Amino acid sequence: MSELRGVGIGLGVAQGPVVRMTEALPAPENTPSTVGVDAERARARDAVGAVAAELNARGEAAGGSAQEVLEAQAMIAEDPTLQDEVDARIDAGSTAEWAVHDAFAGFRATLEAVGGYLGERAADLDDIAQRVLAHLRGVAAPGVPDPGHPYILVARDLAPADTALLNLDQVLALVTIDGGPTSHTAILAREKGIVAVVGTVRAADLVDGETVIVDAAAGTVITSPSDDEKQRAAQRAAERLSADTAPLTPGALADGTSIALLANLGKPADAADAVARGAEGVGLFRTEFLFLSSAQAPTVAQQREQYRELLSAFPGKKVVVRMLDAGADKPLAFLNDAHEENPALGLRGLRALRASEDILREQLTALAEADAETEADLWVMAPMVATVEETVYFTDLAREYGLKTAGVMVEVPSSALLADRVLAHADFASIGTNDLTQYTMAADRLLGSVAGFQDPWHPAVLRLVREVGAAGARLGKPVGICGEAAADPQLAVVLVGLGATSLSMAPSALADVRHTLSTRTLDEARSLAEAALAADDAASARQAVATLAATFPHH
Ligand code: PEP
Ligand code: MG
Repeated sequence: MSELRGVGIGLGVAQGPVVRMTEALPAPENTPSTVGVDAERARARDAVGAVAAELNARGEAAGGSAQEVLEAQAMIAEDPTLQDEVDARIDAGSTAEWAVHDAFAGFRATLEAVGGYLGERAADLDDIAQRVLAHLRGVAAPGVPDPGHPYILVARDLAPADTALLNLDQVLALVTIDGGPTSHTAILAREKGIVAVVGTVRAADLVDGETVIVDAAAGTVITSPSDDEKQRAAQRAAERLSADTAPLTPGALADGTSIALLANLGKPADAADAVARGAEGVGLFRTEFLFLSSAQAPTVAQQREQYRELLSAFPGKKVVVRMLDAGADKPLAFLNDAHEENPALGLRGLRALRASEDILREQLTALAEADAETEADLWVMAPMVATVEETVYFTDLAREYGLKTAGVMVEVPSSALLADRVLAHADFASIGTNDLTQYTMAADRLLGSVAGFQDPWHPAVLRLVREVGAAGARLGKPVGICGEAAADPQLAVVLVGLGATSLSMAPSALADVRHTLSTRTLDEARSLAEAALAADDAASARQAVATLAATFPHH
């Protein structure tokens, strides 16, 4: 056996055969046809027909809304105007490959220019063109494979759309070559409870059909596992299933100190699952996830509907809604479309909202209206706040709309270092450890090559968390954690020891964190935090905490 190292998401383990995601096909060259017009036309027609038939068949198998989407794609593939465009290029001497590539690209540009609903179909055309090209070349189509049996998906990285559409009955685990622990692929994997190891550089060597064990808790992919290893992995998977069925008590330490356990959500439809898993409210609602594919800013009415649906799911409970966080890994066409060399350091988060203040005001209007119609305890917060002045700007504006609880995300080291000044104005702080780690360590959260730096266990990050926790305690203001760090059960205890008063995470992580918190007292959490703070690096902080925790009594 051999072990490939990556970054595990969650604590799951799974085993099965590898199926690799096929990568995008290179564009064909415009070389003249050697087989003649009739043969090229027939090749193009056959390929288009086969792709349409395959899309229809997949749709029929999937049923529901997926069927509608796939049937619509089949219709686009066979669109007569598009066929005429392909034929015209073949008649001028092109190969079927070039004709399909060029005609689809032209059609894509036309749709994009029209914008709106049709503009959003532009990406579908790329997908269909790739499928037709693959057929012409006799190779597998790019995209998420569908081998017809459960498998371990190995990919360079996944687009959010690919992750969202994964068939969880078939995908046992996800291994990516790129992507750090806080890339949005990782976030979606955690949200869906998919066993995942990301940033596994050597996964590039895995081949279709080989059996591997994906151990997210250890952050490893084991190749050629022994029977013994397979059996242990199966047993661990079964044990985790039973932790998931423990009673849904509110979050509390062993000494009774309550630590609210909240959910990170990206759309209202996910609220029911969070409630079913015992979430005591919402600690981070990522509003930008609702509008990632919108070309125009959403209207007040559209937003109000979404927020009303969300708030209605949590009567009497706290729901923290984050203002649109556009930029870098989550570009929103209507908020920040300017090219920037370093978008993570650019006009993003609150900076982008401020540059389009009407959009921020509309969002606050929609939230205030939804708040008036529902019973939840609505808190609002701004992303990527770097200064005290920005804090005052946002909290004043939110209060202007009658929103009673207004706070900021602490994601930039400057606002952690000035936490006492920030919290003098904000009603609460919520620490986004994903970006806070990215900016503290100067390591792009999307880059597999620097994933080793993207570790919230790093004592430099923990010292910043301590600043915020201490300021919150002094001023009597709540300090939540809503980055992925809160979903790591051991780190969650350390964060509480540093002063976090609530933890927000993907609902799938709630059971493990609830259990681990219940085994530690506040004094123990503080001692563990001290041990982590005194370490030189992330690995030693983990080790120091594990060693000290082993000496504590069982509660
Ligand atoms: C964070 O940065 O930790 C956070 C919670 O926000 P996001 O991951 O959406 O950037
Ligand atoms: Mg962030």
